[in-house]
Amino acid sequence: MRKKALFLLILLKFFSSVFAWDDVGHKTTAYIAWQVMTPRAREKAIEILLSAPEDSHLSALFLSYDARPLEVRRLEFFMLASIWADLVRDRNFPIRHQKYHQGSWHYVNKFWKAENGKVEFLENPEGEDAGKAVEKLFEFERILKDSSVKEAEKAIALAWFLHVAGDIHQPLHNSARVTEQEPKGDRGGNLFLLTPKDTPREKQENLHWYWDSIIVRNIKRGSSCDIEFIRKLSNRLMKKYPLQQLSLEIGKYDRWHEEGVKIATEQVYPSTLKRFEMPSAEYKKKAFEISERQLVLAGYRIGMTLNQIFQ
Ligand SMILES: [Zn+2]
Repeated sequence: MRKKALFLLILLKFFSSVFAWDDVGHKTTAYIAWQVMTPRAREKAIEILLSAPEDSHLSALFLSYDARPLEVRRLEFFMLASIWADLVRDRNFPIRHQKYHQGSWHYVNKFWKAENGKVEFLENPEGEDAGKAVEKLFEFERILKDSSVKEAEKAIALAWFLHVAGDIHQPLHNSARVTEQEPKGDRGGNLFLLTPKDTPREKQENLHWYWDSIIVRNIKRGSSCDIEFIRKLSNRLMKKYPLQQLSLEIGKYDRWHEEGVKIATEQVYPSTLKRFEMPSAEYKKKAFEISERQLVLAGYRIGMTLNQIFQ
């Protein structure tokens, strides 16, 4: 077990810097969720996550042997569980990848276009996958509440819930903007390139990734370790946006999605944003402000939902 956990940790270091709110974003929402969770909800969440099937490698993310206090290790495990859905993308583990990876669960795209400055919503183009995030969130909640479902199955649903509930607070996980260049949508900004036209593929940056990684674009991380960096960031965000001041809409996953659509259509594509150019300092600041609020909101929502499920 110890060997496997170490091995996984090394892998985490190399493969976790990818996709959908980068790992800092997800770990921040998980950290904030943990802060508002009741002792009972924390207990239950950890117990369930530890019951995950062996081949998912989920329970191996809990470090049972190190010397830090149990509560710190439980929190760290909870934070790592929130990025498990991205870890299983790794094709170096073909069996795990095949059994657990689900690309279309990470988003739900509303297709739209701007016509004379007005937003017009469109039918999903034929053959385009619009994503399943919202329907899956409803399903994960059902699974977690169902006393006839085995703990192992609940573990996978819970890890997915922690992740997808975070993802849909990234505005570009809710949107496919249709333009002349992108008649079938821009895949949440993935087709909107920010680097110069002749940039080799492996060095290209796009708008989706820009938003995923907006926190570390704005805050110098320095040498502080993960949990320290995230603790500071989360404490600041929770102070800036107290729980009582935000509208949580618990269980209304379609509302969470609609909020993301609103941000994506109204704020993510100002006329000053140009293809093949990095966004301005002003845009970067704005994107950061929006993302900060979305991260706290996601964290509170995840925590309060789990309080309700595990009461
Ligand atoms: Zn994701």
